[in-house]
Amino acid sequence: MLKLSKTSKLGTKSWSLQALETCPGSKLTNGQLVAACSGCYATTGMYHFGPVKAVRADNKKDWQRDGWVADMVKALSKDTHFRWFDSGDMYALELAEKMLAMGHPEAARKNMNIAKFILSEMMTSKEPA
Ligand code: SF4
Repeated sequence: MLKLSKTSKLGTKSWSLQALETCPGSKLTNGQLVAACSGCYATTGMYHFGPVKAVRADNKKDWQRDGWVADMVKALSKDTHFRWFDSGDMYALELAEKMLAMGHPEAARKNMNIAKFILSEMMTSKEPA
């Protein structure tokens, strides 16, 4: 089942995963955290609470089912702003493809007025050669 949370700062809905566990871009090849992820807010405080972790664990399974894209589009149909990943990251190519599918014209017609925000370490995380 789709589980959206609400971001405290932006006040928008968000869909999140567990930090670090779904953040392959958070670590260098030597295992050290990249600068942007050291001291990650999503590894402290309320992010340790069982219910918060449970939502993220459920979401990690849930996105893999058929109908997830349609449910996401429907859930956001009245929103003007949305934030991907209050915690966690786009750890799987198949997940990225589903996120992209939400921008397909047929789906996008239902999300005409929404601005989606994403902060990801997946594109900037490679160590310099
Ligand atoms: S990508 Fe974001 S959520 Fe993941 S470890 Fe880095 S700062 Fe935390």
